[in-house]
Amino acid sequence: MSDTGSGNHPSPRDWELLGAALRGKRALVLGIANAHSIAYGCARVMRRLGAELAVTYLNEKAKPHVEPLAQALGAGIFAPCDVSREGELEAVFARIEKEWGGLDVALHSIAFAPKADLQGRLVDSSGEGFKVAMDISCHSFIRMARLAEPLMADGGTLLAMSYHGAEKVVPNYNLMGPVKAALESAVRYLAYELGPKDIRVHAVSPGPLKTRAASGLKDFGVLLSEATQRAPIGELVDIDDVGLTTAFLATPFARRLTGMTVYVDGGLSIMG
Ligand code: NAD
Repeated sequence: MSDTGSGNHPSPRDWELLGAALRGKRALVLGIANAHSIAYGCARVMRRLGAELAVTYLNEKAKPHVEPLAQALGAGIFAPCDVSREGELEAVFARIEKEWGGLDVALHSIAFAPKADLQGRLVDSSGEGFKVAMDISCHSFIRMARLAEPLMADGGTLLAMSYHGAEKVVPNYNLMGPVKAALESAVRYLAYELGPKDIRVHAVSPGPLKTRAASGLKDFGVLLSEATQRAPIGELVDIDDVGLTTAFLATPFARRLTGMTVYVDGGLSIMG
């Protein structure tokens, strides 16, 4: 992140003013694969605002790419978590309970669909591909909420990453459209169910960003150049932009917000 500040990017003085809005908060971050991951931008901003972090990695193959990032973030907990593997998400929460005794923020920044289903028409998608995409990209958020609930005795914030393709048809987003629509709906129902416990739930919906997950979408380059041309702000968002909004939602500044899908897209989604 720039330390000099440019355009809309925070300067050192901005950071000073933002202060330590998450000091003492304990945040779990799922979804860092590399330094381009949206989850990494979110973790970096939350850390900068004072949060303690728990970071997960997908598997042994991913570990060497994530470990240096977790170290740079000063993550106190670093653990494997493939949400499709029985018991791994539960093990992360067991460790958080043992080492931290509670949790304030949990971020789900993961998605997956088998390539053939992701790149084909929705109408041709396989039942199995749809099920896998729905389980990893949506139901695992619900499982995460269930595990977080008892650890958030003093309230907390649950956050998931969505995309505009949930609401409008974005060519080539294919079966991820209905999967993200289910995720955004799950966010609203979880917000309703957990609201009385002061657990707030949000989806964050970034504009297109060049990440590994995005590279699986057909003609993603077209989406990026269209976004630059059409977004009122006139440039792509970066992972720190997404991080700033995500972190904001976890601070007391957002204490009366819940159940929303918050766009971080330079205004792209308002365009007809
Ligand atoms: P990324 O490839 O950096 O992150 C995706 C993450 O999902 C990886 O860390 C991967 O390990 C994880 N993952 C996949 N299967 C998993 C499993 N079974 N268990 C645990 N983790 C698993 O890409 P990203 O763009 O940072 O994606 C993060 C989130 O942001 C996703 O939900 C994606 O749909 C969403 N999103 C991305 C864009 C974009 O343009 N890149 C835009 C809007 C929303």
